[in-house]
Amino acid sequence: MKVYKSIGNPIRPLRLFIGGVHGRECRTTKQLLEMLVKTSKPKSGSAIVVPCLYTGRYVSTLSSNYLNTKAFKRLVKIVENFKPDMYVEVHCYKLSSYSSLTNPSRINVKGVPPLVEVENGVLIGSISPLLKAKLNLEIAILIETPCGRKENFKAALEILRVFLMSNSTQEALETLGFKHGVKTFKKTGKTFNLPYWI
Ligand SMILES: [Zn+2]
Repeated sequence: MKVYKSIGNPIRPLRLFIGGVHGRECRTTKQLLEMLVKTSKPKSGSAIVVPCLYTGRYVSTLSSNYLNTKAFKRLVKIVENFKPDMYVEVHCYKLSSYSSLTNPSRINVKGVPPLVEVENGVLIGSISPLLKAKLNLEIAILIETPCGRKENFKAALEILRVFLMSNSTQEALETLGFKHGVKTFKKTGKTFNLPYWI
């Protein structure tokens, strides 16, 4: 497992980017996060980037079974070691899952709020409430880009760079257009709440 470190002086804020938390998502997240490492560096503070945490069986992070995986054990060690101020988990999704991930009724179906499309198929939300509690994180961001689709990388990289350059998650979300967790899309006039779990 490769860990890329860019340590600033002062060290904080420390941002942690994690890809490949389950299944074969590394195929996508490794390329994407290595591009991020090669092309950008935080202006202040530090960034720790893990492009591929683990490749193996797919276990949903919403399931308590995930807590028994090697991937989760690795993740706990990394989070305990670095104690990040900002946490961004990078996933990929099959295009056929788009409608269930963004379904406004997802809370009734899966027990978690829908993800919001920021740009060009790239979705944002909070990480699994189970992981958030076990890792003792405050606001933990989830980014989903379509698996294996390089045509979406540009949009995904732009969003990741916003987190890399911001000094807090709140600042990054505001840069992305979320005011108090709500974003109004100019094109459609629709508003979306960014789902947080307290
Ligand atoms: Zn995933």
